[in-house]
Amino acid sequence: MDIVFFNGEFLPKEKVSVSPDDRGFLFADGVYEVVRWYSGFFFDMEGHHSRLKRSLSELRIKWNDVESFPDIASELIRLNSLVEKPALVYFQVTRGAAPRTHTFPSPPVNPTTYGFAKTFIPESAGKENGISVMLKNDIRWARCDIKSIALLPNTMCFEEATSKGHGECIFIRNGYITEGSHSNIFFVTGGILRTHPESEHILSGITRKNVIKAASACGIKVEERAVHEDELKEVTEAFITNTSAEITPVTAFGGTPAGNGKPGPLTKLIHNKFREIVLSYAGKNS
Ligand code: PMP
Repeated sequence: MDIVFFNGEFLPKEKVSVSPDDRGFLFADGVYEVVRWYSGFFFDMEGHHSRLKRSLSELRIKWNDVESFPDIASELIRLNSLVEKPALVYFQVTRGAAPRTHTFPSPPVNPTTYGFAKTFIPESAGKENGISVMLKNDIRWARCDIKSIALLPNTMCFEEATSKGHGECIFIRNGYITEGSHSNIFFVTGGILRTHPESEHILSGITRKNVIKAASACGIKVEERAVHEDELKEVTEAFITNTSAEITPVTAFGGTPAGNGKPGPLTKLIHNKFREIVLSYAGKNS
């Protein structure tokens, strides 16, 4: 039986009932976070926690218990007997339930909070061998820095990518590569690792931040500068990053091979260093 967190309580998932007036349901008016449990510890809980706080504050949603997020996440792991398994904790906060109107409820209502934990299979051989990505015009809004639950463009574009045999959809805005439908993207050109700078056009990924740290620790020069689609032909390696899959090599853009079409040496080097950083969290926040 799955035990979830709902509005301050841990309870069987079947017992959850969400109001049809919830603004998450009516307007996708809410934010979420996903943090990975490495069979005994969370990786960079602090990074995920502070991003959750920032997303809430950007949308002016006040959740008084936000400081309890790490404890709730640990409790979800424990109550679902996942302590020794790889797992993900999903958590979302919506503005709460109020009669439908575009303005925010006044006075404010209690936000609705929902979290669950699930085990997952971290990485498949296919991903180690690299994926092809589809390139598509970035049809999303201009606040991609907020981890909003409004993900329709992301799900539509990812669905299109997978139905065409690709492993991710990568967005292009005004000719520049921003990020993926649920990942950030890095490129190697001329031995330099490049990725889109933090801005309102990308989510500031926790994996992205730690990959930059890992690459710098390996002595690789990192530039937070967007890559133009015309520069893709000069790319020798590429990879995407996210919490659940860490680093996934990209071996083709559409039908065109990325570099020599194989996962590259810098990608492997950075991934190994990234895993060292992950392991440094063992015992810190179990
Ligand atoms: N960009 C988008 C749009 C995402 O949904 C995600 C996954 N949450 C990422 C980037 C990667 O973020 P993280 O490394 O924190 O999982």
